[in-house]
Amino acid sequence: MQSDKSILLTFDVEDWFQVENLKKSIPFSSWPTCESRVEENTARLLDLLESAREKCGASSRPPLRATFFVLGWLADRKPHLVRQIAARGHEIASHGFYHRLCGDCSPAVLRNDLSDSKKLLEDVTGEAVYGYRAPSFSISPQVLELVAECGYTYDSSYNSFGGNSRYGHIDVVRNGCGIAGRVPPSLLELPVSNLEVAGRTIPMGGGGYFRLMPIWLFKRAVRTIINKEGAYLFYMHPWEIDPGQPRVKNLPLSYRFRHYVNLSSAASRLADLLGAFFAHRFLTCREYIDRVALSRTVGSHLDL
Ligand SMILES: [Zn+2]
Repeated sequence: MQSDKSILLTFDVEDWFQVENLKKSIPFSSWPTCESRVEENTARLLDLLESAREKCGASSRPPLRATFFVLGWLADRKPHLVRQIAARGHEIASHGFYHRLCGDCSPAVLRNDLSDSKKLLEDVTGEAVYGYRAPSFSISPQVLELVAECGYTYDSSYNSFGGNSRYGHIDVVRNGCGIAGRVPPSLLELPVSNLEVAGRTIPMGGGGYFRLMPIWLFKRAVRTIINKEGAYLFYMHPWEIDPGQPRVKNLPLSYRFRHYVNLSSAASRLADLLGAFFAHRFLTCREYIDRVALSRTVGSHLDL
């Protein structure tokens, strides 16, 4: 029997060389000459999402759907990749255009980044784009104003873990709409899920923390979050399942560790996670907002 609990899988579609930790070694000007591996890695992720359902003997259940926050720079060069993700039943949302940290951009530059990426993704897919995720979760109240101004209806850029200086802070008002909250001026926020224990925030939303922790511990934490919140929002990147990606030399030790730890086991960990929770509903962000949040109290300003 299917559970009424929801899991929101989200993937930030960027290539291995576009990661913030590698920016000093691989400047933006050299992106066009780097070996692109994002298509292969995204295809592996899409296959993994589909095969997880079959392995669980759950092929009669609804397809497992996820949200892919795609970088505009990639969509411009690989529109077929974006169409392929959409054609396989997943939601397309924006990860900005150039993967610049929001705090490093003037309002004018960020406004263009937000609107250009949205328009491009809509042109490529022929579908409206509703969601935005800031690079490295670098959100702020000022950025939310621009996100709303550019026509997005939800944001998923808030990670409450305080141990990463790039992560921004916003106040999310929860009002009984599952994990969705309100943020000014008029957006819904779908924060990354973390575990709160004795007043401390333990990062359990995905990424490097997912690759680092023993999978049994991670699954136990996810179960605790779902039992408390009714839903869990996970994030990951296609490059995290690619142990064969080029190795960048002379990185600071902490960056090297965060980028490369356990790349070779990340795909099997993800399959393990999906298998453990397959009785749950796997929804896109839009579906979650539509089914859970809107059905309660949020109202109808979202045209979903
Ligand atoms: Zn990113």
